[in-house]
Amino acid sequence: VRPDKKLGQNFLTDSTIADEIVLHTSSDKQDFVLEIGPGPGMLTQSILALDRAKKIVAVEMDPRCVTALSSLVATSEGRLTVIQGDALRIDEEKILQEYGKGASKIKVIANLPYNVGTELLIKWLKRSHLFSSITIMLQKEVVERICATPDTKKYGRLAVMSQLLCEVNEVIEVAPEYFFPPPKVTSAVVNLIPRAMPLYPCDLNKVERLTAELFNHRRKMIHKLLKPLISEECLNKTLINLTKRPEQLTLEEICLLSELIK
Ligand code: SAM
Repeated sequence: VRPDKKLGQNFLTDSTIADEIVLHTSSDKQDFVLEIGPGPGMLTQSILALDRAKKIVAVEMDPRCVTALSSLVATSEGRLTVIQGDALRIDEEKILQEYGKGASKIKVIANLPYNVGTELLIKWLKRSHLFSSITIMLQKEVVERICATPDTKKYGRLAVMSQLLCEVNEVIEVAPEYFFPPPKVTSAVVNLIPRAMPLYPCDLNKVERLTAELFNHRRKMIHKLLKPLISEECLNKTLINLTKRPEQLTLEEICLLSELIK
């Protein structure tokens, strides 16, 4: 399959890296795995060979890759189903019901197309109750934004949503030479384990509204930014230091402030 840039096709060329990614997941042979963008199947083969799934559904946009995967499907003894489609549009809950063989949750394992990686992650975070783990390869820069802590440049909306809803861990870095064609940037694998409940009590819609307002103006003091969202009376009562900048707020402070939104 000749790689198509528009589809974010940078294929893994080294099976030891694919094995390493799979070994960093908590998956075992009882699990239902959703793989996004299997391409010609390097990662898929590792999941099968290492016996890390009872069933894999792989969703791939490119019909050429779907054809290339047919022999792997044929030898998988029913463990692999490939669906041609757009991962942004699939209904994960329906896929779990249809193919899950009784599994109650999904484990995602994927080397994501980088052009839609963040959008896909946000989609999954919004329905995080469906997943027991999400192990994905993305640009290292995006993985750093997912794992960022307060008081750093990379800390923002993606860190807040990811860490409120999941435990996050960067597991390995993968250099460009392990792909064809080599991407311009280094990649990294992150493991997200959804929490049973958000880390602090909150209404996620309010957290999203608040973080959108705050992190669009990272250098301003939060007092100014909060005025349109929270009454002066509530702001006066809060113990949070209102001269802080958005990137200095902890997850707990963000949740507390979001609860004050009218
Ligand atoms: N898993 C393979 C590997 O590691 O070698 C390929 C990874 S490549 C970075 C991303 C794959 O996602 C490509 O095969 C591409 O065709 C596919 N893809 C791109 N956009 C997609 C979408 N919206 N839905 C499903 N697959 C998509």
